[in-house]
Amino acid sequence: MKQGIHPDYKLTTVTCACGNKFETGSVRENLRVEICSACHPFFTGKQKFVDAGGRVEKFKKKYSR
Ligand SMILES: [Zn+2]
Repeated sequence: MKQGIHPDYKLTTVTCACGNKFETGSVRENLRVEICSACHPFFTGKQKFVDAGGRVEKFKKKYSR
């Protein structure tokens, strides 16, 4: 193992737009993300809640019968 070839890798708090916070290892501090494993549709199986402004509902109405 060589020493000193990696930047300082430390635990940092990531804050998501949904309010979720989690810690991860990063060379940067206090990361901000817009989507995380707690609110990503892939993980939740739901529509992204930031789309709750009605666009999705309109779309559903238009294309459902
Ligand atoms: Zn999130």
